[in-house]
Amino acid sequence: MKSAWQLSAVAFAAAVLSVSVWAQGTDFSKIEFTAKQIAPNLYMVSGSPNIDVNHPDAAGGLVGVLAGPDGIFMVDAQYAQVSDKLLATIKKISSEPIRFMANTHIHGDHTAGNPFFGKMGIVIFAREELREQMIHPPRLANGNPAPARDPAGYPVVTYGMGAPVKFHMNGEVIDLIPVRAAHTSGDTMIRFENANVIMIGDFYRNFGYPFIDRANGGTLNGMLEGCDQLMKIAGPDTTLIPGHGTWIKRSDLVPYAEMIKSVRDKVKQLIAQGKTEKEVVAAKPTASWDAKTPGGLGAAGAGMTSADRFVSEVYQELKGGAK
Ligand SMILES: [Zn+2]
Repeated sequence: MKSAWQLSAVAFAAAVLSVSVWAQGTDFSKIEFTAKQIAPNLYMVSGSPNIDVNHPDAAGGLVGVLAGPDGIFMVDAQYAQVSDKLLATIKKISSEPIRFMANTHIHGDHTAGNPFFGKMGIVIFAREELREQMIHPPRLANGNPAPARDPAGYPVVTYGMGAPVKFHMNGEVIDLIPVRAAHTSGDTMIRFENANVIMIGDFYRNFGYPFIDRANGGTLNGMLEGCDQLMKIAGPDTTLIPGHGTWIKRSDLVPYAEMIKSVRDKVKQLIAQGKTEKEVVAAKPTASWDAKTPGGLGAAGAGMTSADRFVSEVYQELKGGAK
C-alpha cells in the first residue's frame, strides 16, 4: 500500500520545479523582452524564444502592461533574474510610475520578480490562496521545507472567490476574475474590458499539456470549470491571452476542454481495469492528441514529458489518493 506521500511525489516534484528550480539550465542573461501593442494603451511583454528550458516558445510568463496618465498597471512579474530588464522594457513603453500589479498564479515564472517590484512600492493584488502559498510553500520532493519567499513580494491586497476586483484607470476597466482551483488554487484571469482582452493565466495552455499543480491546489475539474467560465465571459472576438503560447479566441477552448475530458475518460477506464499509475502513464492516453499539441511530448521536468505529467496528475486526482 503506497502512502499518500508516495502517491503525491510526482505532484510535489512538479511543484518544486515550478517554484524553485523551474528554469534550471536556463541562461537568464540571454533573455530579452519584446513588447507587443494590442490596444492603444495595452502591451504584452514576452521573453525570447528557445532559452527557457521549460518554456521554449517564450521565456517565462507573459507580462501585461496597461500604460497611461493614471500610471501603469501590470500583470505578473517574470523570473527574479530578469527584473531589471523587464523594468527597462516597461519604462520604454511609458515613463509613468508603476502603481499596481496583479498575479495570475503563484509559479516562479510569473511571481519570482514580485519582491523587486514590491520594493519599488508597487501594490500587488492576488488571491488569498496565492499569498498563503507564498508564505507556506509546499514541501520539496525530498520532504524538506521549500525555501522561504521574500515577504516584499507577498500580495498586499488579497481577495477570494467573490465578485471581480475592479480597477478604473487610463480609460480602462480592469477586472481581476477569480477562477475556482484550476492550474493552482489561486488562479485569476485579468480582463481589460475596453480593449476586449482577457489574460487567462496558465489553466489553459497550447504549448504542452495542461499542468494541474496539485501541490498548490490545482484540480482537473477546476480547469474544466475555468474553461466554462471563460466561455461565458468572453465574446466571440475577445482576445484570450494564455500565460504561455499562442493567443486564442473563445472557440479554441472547445477542443481544449474536449482533450481534457477525453484523457480523463481514458484514465478512468484504465483505473477501472486496475492499472497502476505507472501502467496508466505507459498506456499513453494522450496519444490521439499528441500531434495536435505542440510541445506535448517535450520535457516537463523531473524526467517526465508534459503528456506523462498530465496523465499522472489526472490519475492522482481520479484516484483521490495523494491530495
Ligand atoms: Zn504556471
